[in-house]
Amino acid sequence: MHKTYVCTVCPMSCNVVLELDENNEITSLTGNRCPRGKTYVTKEHTAPERTLTTTIRAIGGKLPLLPVRTDKPIPKEMVLEGMKATAELSVKAPVKMGDVIVENFLGTGANLVASRDI
Ligand code: SF4
Repeated sequence: MHKTYVCTVCPMSCNVVLELDENNEITSLTGNRCPRGKTYVTKEHTAPERTLTTTIRAIGGKLPLLPVRTDKPIPKEMVLEGMKATAELSVKAPVKMGDVIVENFLGTGANLVASRDI
């Protein structure tokens, strides 16, 4: 079985093809033009991560919503849970860009931080 990923590390956007065994383990990796593609695709296949970006309610500010993001990627399978959790959050203005809204968000080790002043 094989699976193709597009490497997004640089604008070359290489198509990287993985050959997989019956346990979904990688047996070969081709199509990457540089070693960074191997690192990226191996991680994407085994433990994909995403930076969560969304908004939360803001109270007393000029805008009703505050854009927030995790300060590092979190496991991809936790993004939906993260979106649900942030839907319950609100924050009181003023807030500065980079302020930590939630430490160790959902136990991921990433902080949820403000993406702008409000
Ligand atoms: S494999 Fe290397 S050259 Fe290709 S997109 Fe990824 S980083 Fe860029």
